[in-house]
Amino acid sequence: MSDSARESQQTQETIADRLKAHGVRLTEQRLAISRCLFARGHRHLTAEQLKDELTRQGEKVALATVYNTLHQLTKAGMIKQIVIDPQRSYFDTNTHRHHHFFIEDSGKLLDIPHERVQVRLDDCDPAQALGPEGMKITSVDVVIRVQRDPK
Ligand SMILES: [Zn+2]
Repeated sequence: MSDSARESQQTQETIADRLKAHGVRLTEQRLAISRCLFARGHRHLTAEQLKDELTRQGEKVALATVYNTLHQLTKAGMIKQIVIDPQRSYFDTNTHRHHHFFIEDSGKLLDIPHERVQVRLDDCDPAQALGPEGMKITSVDVVIRVQRDPK
């Protein structure tokens, strides 16, 4: 077995183990989608972008299957969904607490470290603030929209 084949098999096993550990039932397609998604460190991708990458790698996967898998991984806590508008969602492989700049011109997301953003609700940290009656606040995700400044 070549080094790259061994390496790719190792990556595959690690991802399969991670999926199993998060309670995601394994299928060939889920594995292929996850392998592609997690292959290049932390990043933000739409389902369409991920499908294009899979197609370029010669994987035939329906967009609906990509969406289903991304939603399952989100539910399992392996990725985070960032909703920009009703037509556009990104999936973030970095599940640690952080926020985002959304570059409107290019449709790209950039991470903002959690420490750079302070959110206050009723003059306190949202973790201590009250949610709507009968609900608790689970997370605060800030998206700051930016545009290229023509100056
Ligand atoms: Zn991010």
